Amino acid sequence: MIDSARLGLPEFAAGHVWLVGAGPGDPGLLSALALHALSHADSIVYDALVDRRILDLARPGATLDFAGKRGGRPSPTQPDISARLIRLAEAGHRVLRLKGGDPCVFGRGAEEALALAAAGIRFRIVPGITAGIGGLAYAGIPATHREINSAVTFVTGHSSRGAVPDRLDWDAVARGSPVLVIYMALQHLPQIVERLLAAGRRREEPAAIVSKATTPAQRIVVSQLGKLAAAAIGLETPAIVVIGEVVRLRDGLDWIGASEGARTLPPPGPPLATPPPPTPPPPGQRQRS
Ligand code: SAH
Repeated sequence: MIDSARLGLPEFAAGHVWLVGAGPGDPGLLSALALHALSHADSIVYDALVDRRILDLARPGATLDFAGKRGGRPSPTQPDISARLIRLAEAGHRVLRLKGGDPCVFGRGAEEALALAAAGIRFRIVPGITAGIGGLAYAGIPATHREINSAVTFVTGHSSRGAVPDRLDWDAVARGSPVLVIYMALQHLPQIVERLLAAGRRREEPAAIVSKATTPAQRIVVSQLGKLAAAAIGLETPAIVVIGEVVRLRDGLDWIGASEGARTLPPPGPPLATPPPPTPPPPGQRQRS
């Protein structure tokens, strides 16, 4: 599939586990190492967020082992999954643990790697394009822009117990980061928006939701923070939320052009911790790729 030798890719040795990020969906966003792993793995243990088109790239004869939620049945516990990886590796398989996005961004990759290390199993971590970067790019929303934000914060809207994370200092996050990218946000979106507003974020601040990013079913809603929960109704998961003035740049950067939802945003408000964002140029002056 790819010229592994020419790229100098490492051997996928028997008894090793590769924890690989599959990216947000589009198979074109796979890394060369991920493709290499797919074409050499004996056993592939994959999560619900891994796109079917990516699993179709597996070596013929590889065993595909689903480790997510299926048909309302409880998902395997984390210790179950780690034990499965260890068992397969000890049986001499080349084990590919395939996760959506990046394995170590809200993906429990570190937990599994620690279990492998404790069991003396050799492993490699192959980063993937996380939804908070790739999903935004496919929506024409840059995570940073020099004139707008010097920081971007990735947040989860879901604690390990399923609630809005309460160990997070929402006030500090709201005050300190001009751009927030929120994973797993839809379920608790009204509460998350309330916390951000209570911490001083503006109701009119641009915000967007990218559902099923980078897949053929991608949908984007552009709105304002105060209206975001209503705008999310009917959107399907997985979805990534982005809040901040960078959303405004989509007007010029929507390279897919599959826009849905409100496109008219109010003028920029006062800055947070950074200089005020530039007023976007009129449509005729924008660059399109
Ligand atoms: N490790 C993954 C994140 C896993 S948490 C990564 O790095 O991307 C699951 C959350 O990721 C989802 O609830 C959603 O917020 C986000 N996500 C993953 N894939 C997505 C996609 N294709 N489109 C939009 N959001 C996605």
